[in-house]
Amino acid sequence: MTGDGTRVVRAGLPEPAAYEPALPGPVFAAHYHLPGDAVGPYTYGRDDNPTWTGLERAIGELEAPGADDVQTMTFSSGMGAISAVLLSQVRSGDAVVLPADGYQALPLVRERLEAYGVEVRTAPTAGDAQIEQVQGARLLWIETPSNPGLDVCDIRRLADAAHAAGALVAVDNTLATPLGQRPLDLGADFSVASGTKALTGHGDLLLGHVSCRDPELAAAVRLWRKTAGAIPGPMEAWLAHRSLATLHLRVDRQAANALALAGALRDRPEITGLRHPGLPSDPAHSLAARQMRSGRFGCVVSFTLPDRAHAERFLAGLRLTDDATSFGGVRSTAERRGRWGGDAVPEGFIRFSVGVEDVEDLVADVLGALEEAAGA
Ligand SMILES: *Cc1c(COP(=O)(O)O)cnc(C)c1O
Repeated sequence: MTGDGTRVVRAGLPEPAAYEPALPGPVFAAHYHLPGDAVGPYTYGRDDNPTWTGLERAIGELEAPGADDVQTMTFSSGMGAISAVLLSQVRSGDAVVLPADGYQALPLVRERLEAYGVEVRTAPTAGDAQIEQVQGARLLWIETPSNPGLDVCDIRRLADAAHAAGALVAVDNTLATPLGQRPLDLGADFSVASGTKALTGHGDLLLGHVSCRDPELAAAVRLWRKTAGAIPGPMEAWLAHRSLATLHLRVDRQAANALALAGALRDRPEITGLRHPGLPSDPAHSLAARQMRSGRFGCVVSFTLPDRAHAERFLAGLRLTDDATSFGGVRSTAERRGRWGGDAVPEGFIRFSVGVEDVEDLVADVLGALEEAAGA
């Protein structure tokens, strides 16, 4: 089996053929020539598209290298992928377990599920607290490391408990990417992610995917995509496939930069609640080190400044980091997370997404902005 770098540059590419490109360009088609019966790999553009096929093969090769039973479905966004799993699997009267500290749009799905008569239970990510809720549930939803709090739970332990209780397990793997963590190998039924973030890494598109092994589960997710119509555009799918070739370079560099930045912030007196799973002193580090791969602990560092005004002065003082949401891009971004109102975080809480810049420049910029913010 090849290494990750070798795998990503070729993932999902067709067999080399004379005079054909390595990565075929995007196919823009609402419909395809279709003589006779309505069967075939490509019939109508909401059902399938050759550009999706290439990207889905590529992601599948990264989610479960060497496996020939993995199916991947791409979506127009991470929320499209998340909704597809939850809404295709649960029925009125079922119970699902969600993280209390998951992605900020998860409560919107919760409202929808409850309106459809689904019982929603929640528990925090830290300490595998969701394990207490899983009895009698249809599905357990895990997000690890969690966004934005960066807590980590034990996927294998939770999956074993959920399966013993008859529940399916889905893992939101957005922060780690498949190079940092392989949920299907750790026992999950679904690996789900937003491709908007580190997977594609350039902050120029929205995308999502679901990977799973069970053909019936995959068929249900596929049917949901057709029903809701949450399909990716061919251009986005092609850009994503192109971006995957540098995934190993980006995640390694971003993880190394994030660790260096977190280290530089450790002794700052104005900072509390510094979190990064790669920091040996982080409460999540030992579990993350066992569960995540090759030191790829992600690009997010989170910390809290004394108050809202202090955090805003800090953000305004940054020169090399954009004040913007989302994470995982090649350009560093940071934001005061409390401005959205959806997360249970202090007013001075900063979610910092570390890019691929030269780390000395980045650390100097951040320390300079902290000085400016403290001196005001
Ligand atoms: C961004 C994000 C999502 C949603 O993805 P979109 O592509 O924005 O729809 C889901 N889960 C996590 C952990 C995220 O960070």
